[in-house]
Amino acid sequence: MKNNRNCKICDQSNLKIKYHVAICKNCGVHLFYPYPEDDEEIFSKNKYTKDNIAVSENRSETQSRQRDYLSKSGDLNISNFKRMINYTIPKSKNKEMIKILDYGGGSGQFAKICKIIFPNSEIYITDLYDEKLLDDFKIYNNQIKFNEFKNNDLKFDFIFLNDVFEHLSNPTNVLKILNQKLKNKDSKIFIDTPKIFWIYDFFSFLNLGIYRKILNGTIDQDHQQIWTKKSFHLAIKKSNLIVEKYEEVTEFTQPADFYLDAMKIKNISIRLLGKIFYLLAPIIARNKIISVLRNN
Ligand SMILES: [Zn+2]
Repeated sequence: MKNNRNCKICDQSNLKIKYHVAICKNCGVHLFYPYPEDDEEIFSKNKYTKDNIAVSENRSETQSRQRDYLSKSGDLNISNFKRMINYTIPKSKNKEMIKILDYGGGSGQFAKICKIIFPNSEIYITDLYDEKLLDDFKIYNNQIKFNEFKNNDLKFDFIFLNDVFEHLSNPTNVLKILNQKLKNKDSKIFIDTPKIFWIYDFFSFLNLGIYRKILNGTIDQDHQQIWTKKSFHLAIKKSNLIVEKYEEVTEFTQPADFYLDAMKIKNISIRLLGKIFYLLAPIIARNKIISVLRNN
């Protein structure tokens, strides 16, 4: 993937390079460019990407970063997780012993909320960085070590990719693997991932300085692609899956300051404008895709 000069989603050679981002003129996806090393390579060399602030080579430091992240996002996580669970799993499954996989589940907090809504569910977790699973949430999760995941023969009723699809170096390959792990034709995969919306075009015309900060804050070695409706649907089709539900929603996982800091915006008036935007976002911006997929 690293030396590929075509769009890694639609395969067309129509990339416009702007700073550290390749914008595909065909499918619209925004990609970190040049492409970073593949996840498999990072995993096999036991390396951490430069921009991945969530992990460190020291396990207790990784755990403390996870806890720090959750201390800011916990409140939003409860409502966001509840929405995605109810969007994907029918209430009728409440009495069944369903198997759920939290793919790329990090700290494992999702399982705690899921267990409250579906107490009969059995929740599994796997993550490129096994050590992100917090001791506090271990009791809610059955951990499958990442290096054992591909050959593990468990099948699942529901697989969740919550804020994961933008991180994958090869998203269609991962979906093909997950497709093989669905239990039956009623089984589903849920995806929640950021999308391009009007502020990108708006600031690319109006103010290149702010535009660059937006690109810096949303696309990096860790967040490798930000989707458009077209590129998302193409990726799903390439993975032999069918989009059963698709919606564009307003969703934040952290308070406004977190994003303004990530964009390195220091000017007080621009920060204030950013906070006003954050508050108005439910009316004026759809920054996320939520979608449920099923087997073809
Ligand atoms: Zn493309």
